[in-house]
Amino acid sequence: MEDTKKLIYLDNAATTQVDPEVFEAMKPYFCELYANPSSVYSFAGKAAKAVEGAREQIAHLINAKAREIYFTGGGSESDNWTLKSVAEQYAKKGKHIITSKIEHHAILHTAEYLEKQGYEVTYLDVDENGKISLEELEAAIRPDTILISIMAANNEIGTIQPLEEIGRIAKAHDVLFHTDAVQAFGHIPIDVERMNIDLLSASGHKIHGPKGIGILYVRKGVKISSFIHGGAQERKRRAGTHNVPGIVGMGKAASLAEERMGKTMAQETELRDYTIHRIETEIPYCRLNGDRTDRLPNNMNFCFRFVEGESLLIMLDSKGICASSGSACTSGSLDPSHVLLAIGLPHEIAHGSLRMTISESTTKEELDETVDHLKGIIERLRSMSPLYEDFIKKQAK
Ligand SMILES: *Cc1c(COP(=O)(O)O)cnc(C)c1O
Repeated sequence: MEDTKKLIYLDNAATTQVDPEVFEAMKPYFCELYANPSSVYSFAGKAAKAVEGAREQIAHLINAKAREIYFTGGGSESDNWTLKSVAEQYAKKGKHIITSKIEHHAILHTAEYLEKQGYEVTYLDVDENGKISLEELEAAIRPDTILISIMAANNEIGTIQPLEEIGRIAKAHDVLFHTDAVQAFGHIPIDVERMNIDLLSASGHKIHGPKGIGILYVRKGVKISSFIHGGAQERKRRAGTHNVPGIVGMGKAASLAEERMGKTMAQETELRDYTIHRIETEIPYCRLNGDRTDRLPNNMNFCFRFVEGESLLIMLDSKGICASSGSACTSGSLDPSHVLLAIGLPHEIAHGSLRMTISESTTKEELDETVDHLKGIIERLRSMSPLYEDFIKKQAK
């Protein structure tokens, strides 16, 4: 990439830029207010107060209580903690867990690990738009079911699940409900009371906060084991000196997200739908993946027939455009995304996928430039594809 070219960053589901206001809020906690918040002197009190302030900010965003928020090292840790801990604490009640086929690998690989430990996991199917069926969910609940873990919004195709209905079913059957809300937290409204959510994972770096910090919300009364043994931090559940700058940054990011949510959602939705419309009308043989309406405001995911997703990414990169095919975690592997396979796409089509995720600072001009490049790139890649040539010949007959 020529370094004179401006970067067009369309990979906000992989990570986001730290907001300058977040960075400003974090700064004092490196060189000035560097005390360990667990120490007794008053100098440490300032750091401790900052940690508790961030806890309040985060709790407020999801209508939880501050003491129900536990700081972790990120979304993956919160997902691991939930599954392993509920499995351990509720093993006497049963060893059955319900999740879905389109979860993040932090859930899926932990579930597989638990299967090896003698737990039974039901992986719910999703429909062609990526939604679970509430009837199938309810039918899957058994007397030994201890947890339903369904993500709030999918990181690849942006589909939002019916959280309130899932919460109602979980509550009616007295089963705990966890949601991996890493993509939804701070992006769309979430209310743990209204939605009957018992546990929720979120991460700082997906909301313009720093990397390596996350939270697990645990409803009061839900039993949870210690994840890291050691000091008495986080009510003895997660030992280790607090990542004070990270915590302060995530708190600030959560409060900015709450303040800006209405405006950001409206702006992103408009740009998203404008871009989807341009692609659908200007590029033939494409398919929008994910639900059209119950969809994260910042997510676009397309399959282009006769095109390799990886080649597409490389050519976009040469134009200074950062996008993704599937998720960052599966990039580098040749398997098509488990999410695209779960919505019923055949392998050869799932390979030609492109995810573009915008932020509040993405402009219409950037998206227009991207679509213009995309048209040319796809035309070029197709002109080199023997499959496409055959297809066109057959069409002509
Ligand atoms: C990014 C992401 C995670 C992992 O969060 P980290 O903080 O990067 O560990 C988990 N679940 C979903 C849905 C994600 O998008």
